[in-house]
Amino acid sequence: MRRKLVAGNWKMHGSLSENETLLRGVLAGMADVKAAVAVCVPFPYLHQARHLLAGGPIAWGAQNLSQHAKGAYTGEVSAAMLNDFSCRYVIVGHSERRALYGESDEVVAEKFAAALAAGLTPILCVGETLEERETGVTEQVVARQLDAVIGRSGIAALAASVLAYEPVWAIGTGRTATPQQAQDVHAFIRAKLRALDAEVADGLIIQYGGSVKAGNAAELFGQPDIDGGLIGGASLNADEFLAICRAA
Ligand code: PEP
Repeated sequence: MRRKLVAGNWKMHGSLSENETLLRGVLAGMADVKAAVAVCVPFPYLHQARHLLAGGPIAWGAQNLSQHAKGAYTGEVSAAMLNDFSCRYVIVGHSERRALYGESDEVVAEKFAAALAAGLTPILCVGETLEERETGVTEQVVARQLDAVIGRSGIAALAASVLAYEPVWAIGTGRTATPQQAQDVHAFIRAKLRALDAEVADGLIIQYGGSVKAGNAAELFGQPDIDGGLIGGASLNADEFLAICRAA
């Protein structure tokens, strides 16, 4: 039985004072949350997240990392640096990184490998654009993104990771995939992985991400292959995020 995981992706939002209010608010409501919960915060706030969350029920992590271990990579942050802040998770291959920062499938696969090698749990994001959905290539796109990672790290490596199916057209747009649309892709992913390793496929947490809110979370998370969510905008409000966590 897979435990559901709800992870907040704060993106480039927050300040020391806003974060403190938000995290204290979420912590205060965690008593009746059964799902695993995490927040992925901007790099400068990792220290604060650890200070406020250590020893409690909420894990923390980052939204990106370098594929390189160290060296002349101005502005980059390595997996070892994330470990210095006791991160558990790191988001890899978010569609905003792919689209805005040119991260190819190969770079994403390198980042995934770097996270795993450091003992971090990568949350690997995959998903199609609206154009790709409308031209009927959703499954090919998701398969290609997964294959790059499996080709680099092997299927067994997925056992130490989390997947997030995030249709690009649903991220930050208010337009959510229907529970059936999401379930169809999740089932496709699990079946594809099952053909390689049934144990890995059946144990893997596959989150859905894309305009999840308190009002649609329960129906999405009720689908058999949806194991929680990666939550952007709605993770910035303690009550809304807690309602999503409770739905999981
Ligand atoms: C995300 O950033 O991963 C995301 C799913 O964003 P939103 O929930 O705002 O659509």
